[in-house]
Amino acid sequence: MKQTVSRRSVLQAGLAGAAALSLGTLGSALPRWAGAATRPLSSQRLSDNLLLISGAGGNIVAARDARGLLLVDGGTAAAGPEALQRALRELGARSAHTLINTHWHGEHTGLNEALGRQGARIIAHENTRLWLSTDVRLTPDAAPIKRLSAKARPNDTTYTTGSTALGDETVSYGYLSQAHTDGDLYVKFAKANVLVTGGVVAGQGWPTADWVTGGWISGTAAGYKTLVGLCDAQTRVITANGTQVIGKAELEAEMAIIANLADQLTRMLRKGYAPADMLAAAPAKDYEAKLGDATQFLTESFKSLWPRMAPDA
Ligand SMILES: [Zn+2]
Repeated sequence: MKQTVSRRSVLQAGLAGAAALSLGTLGSALPRWAGAATRPLSSQRLSDNLLLISGAGGNIVAARDARGLLLVDGGTAAAGPEALQRALRELGARSAHTLINTHWHGEHTGLNEALGRQGARIIAHENTRLWLSTDVRLTPDAAPIKRLSAKARPNDTTYTTGSTALGDETVSYGYLSQAHTDGDLYVKFAKANVLVTGGVVAGQGWPTADWVTGGWISGTAAGYKTLVGLCDAQTRVITANGTQVIGKAELEAEMAIIANLADQLTRMLRKGYAPADMLAAAPAKDYEAKLGDATQFLTESFKSLWPRMAPDA
């Protein structure tokens, strides 16, 4: 009962806040992962039949077989169609028959409407399908993100793992538990030895979890661990954003940073630190040269622990 009242209060505060804010301030209220850069598009060939397209809001990996393309993620609704045309052209295909959503965020699901209408198989974690089936309000100040149409939603979901054949390639995917959201999938191309991390590893800056839809910093650290376990020394790792293809060593180095910060923030929360106390302690100061200003990441990560660690949770 207490939770119901407090949730309603939050929603009402959100409505009042939205009315008071000008459009110009709405963007700054959104977490960084909700505003990834789009364009210019660029592409990198990962193997004869495998292509990485960057700059579409989130990275897209396209793989070709005799029937057409399998895509891992679709960029934003604005940039996705252009990225799809580029993938079709560069890989010599006419259409895409399969789309895998690594998670529900709009930087990755921008092709769901178009490909869903064409009858594509859309694979995702069941929680991703649920988030895409409802309106989501990420911050009290932001307008709700509208649900996708029924045809655009994932139509082949898993709670755990799955795989699909693509020519002589095996494409496997699996759940990263509650990490960046509560519906994150990795995707692995076995023959090409390419691992797609989805939102759990940002690739540009800090991997901020979306705690509103079930992500949190300790889960993000655990997600890194699962991903590292899927790599060997030759694996090429494709992150959520950016043009840089990384390897197991870089993934392990970043995992150590996130796990260290998860520990530090958990200890600070248990000591009763307020967010300002936590920021004043500068737990990420040694890492900012590598990953950039950590203020937003730390703030969101600290919040992500509240529903998990607070005494009345
Ligand atoms: Zn995301």
